[in-house]
Amino acid sequence: MIATEAAQTIVTLDLEGVLVPEIWIAFAETTGIDALRRTTRDEPNYETLMAGRLEILNEHGLTMADIAAVIDTLSPLAGACEFLDELRTRSQVIILSDTFEQFAQPLMRQLGWPTIMCHRLIVDTDDVIVNYELRQHDQKRLAVEAFRSLNFRVVAAGDSYNDTAMLAAAHAGFLFHSPANVQAEFPQFQAIDTFEDLLAAITAAL
Ligand SMILES: [Mg+2]
Repeated sequence: MIATEAAQTIVTLDLEGVLVPEIWIAFAETTGIDALRRTTRDEPNYETLMAGRLEILNEHGLTMADIAAVIDTLSPLAGACEFLDELRTRSQVIILSDTFEQFAQPLMRQLGWPTIMCHRLIVDTDDVIVNYELRQHDQKRLAVEAFRSLNFRVVAAGDSYNDTAMLAAAHAGFLFHSPANVQAEFPQFQAIDTFEDLLAAITAAL
């Protein structure tokens, strides 16, 4: 029996910008379709942005299999695999992402299939992406609150606006690879830029 009173832990990590590149931007670069570079910074209405993206994919005749093949050529950020492998020896780790299962899958393969909770694209029988389905609004915050209700200590890290509710809900939260405007708006979260420092900060907070 292990004599310890420390709480069991879960680390929740954002995916894009933390472990892998921004998938839509990388996808736009790989395919050369510039119109897919638009992000929530250009179009704040997420539904409008996604409708535009799906229209562009269909215009270019890109099916789900085509897209998966392109995403399969993307790689995790340098050092991300080693960071995740080491972190998983120290705590349970769950990735909380606002991407879609089908986009994440090729990258999860390269990361050694960590657990991920995200959303889902709706694909028809011809392999055309016809829509998307958010599993749950505000899922990052709700997942952290659920893990806390299961008596886990939760430490979180993410890079952007859609992570701050998750960081606030956790026992400890860190901004990682975060742009200056997010750091300035959320000074309550320590901003970290290297995997080495993030591993040390998370470990100290567990
Ligand atoms: Mg992100």
